[in-house]
Amino acid sequence: MNQPKVRAILVMVLACFIVIAGCSNKEDVGSNQKESTENQLHIVTTFYPMYEFTKNITNENAQVDLLIPSNIEPHDWEPTPKDMAMIQKADVLIYNSDFMETWISSIKESLGKEQPQFVEASKGIPLMKGDEHDHHEEEGDHDDVETDHLDEGEVHEEGNEQLDPHVWLSPVLAQQEVQTITEAIVKQDPKNKDDYESNSQEYIQKLKDLDELFRKTLQHVSSKEIITQHAAFGYLAKEYGLIQIPIAGLSPSEEPSPSKLAELKEFAKEHHINVIYFEETTSPKVAITLAAELGAETEILNTIEGLSKEDQEEGLSYIEVMKNNLKSLEKSLVK
Ligand SMILES: [Zn+2]
Repeated sequence: MNQPKVRAILVMVLACFIVIAGCSNKEDVGSNQKESTENQLHIVTTFYPMYEFTKNITNENAQVDLLIPSNIEPHDWEPTPKDMAMIQKADVLIYNSDFMETWISSIKESLGKEQPQFVEASKGIPLMKGDEHDHHEEEGDHDDVETDHLDEGEVHEEGNEQLDPHVWLSPVLAQQEVQTITEAIVKQDPKNKDDYESNSQEYIQKLKDLDELFRKTLQHVSSKEIITQHAAFGYLAKEYGLIQIPIAGLSPSEEPSPSKLAELKEFAKEHHINVIYFEETTSPKVAITLAAELGAETEILNTIEGLSKEDQEEGLSYIEVMKNNLKSLEKSLVK
């Protein structure tokens, strides 16, 4: 190939790259719009709680972007080349868990040498197996047998054990995630250490207050079983002594078989469950059908995997959505 031709191709490639990079900046939902200054830390976060936790630690000291638009359900999301360009430019990428953002290991490989520091916020938290949700140590009676039965074949695919990544939905484990994110940011940007640490302490205190509120409100429940749309509330249930019976599996796309639905119906009748919880960001069809067949009510239990347009317009935060979740639980469990 002669030189002018090579140069022309190079120019074209460069132009494409600039267009791609330009687009990715404009389309971030909820991201900080201002360009980062030369020496400001640039952090990309995956889905909404990761964004909120990080933003509360950094305030204006870093540029924080949200990678997965907050109206999109992140379980089956995969990065586009545009997203890859954005990740490549960042100093730090903060994500929840290899069991949630399952694409992380493959992009680490394809990014090669020029890649941000990857921070797994759930690192150090022992993850539960997919079917541990429904087991409840204090319940030695027949309840265990029934919930066990409901889980058959749901999560354990041979050699491919799926662990539960939904730790952010426990206000206690969320504190641990904030701590892990804080340490990683301080390491990357030690000159703002004091700011990061005091902001972090302030936010952790809010999470402690939230935990206190959950504990107090759910102290005297008249029933413990919650039927949820997918298995997102295992850690929350464990923390406050509830029993989660999920309709779908660890991912909302794992839909139940007709026989499992029939068992769920049976279970709900036996336990006089009159509320079925559904989510805002994934299709609630099965949950609503089940509720209709049972003559049960429906309530929203938000996984905060995404935020609906309405929630975004209202400027709802993790803490407020969690308080709404608590109100939903209180309505049906505390009588
Ligand atoms: Zn989920």
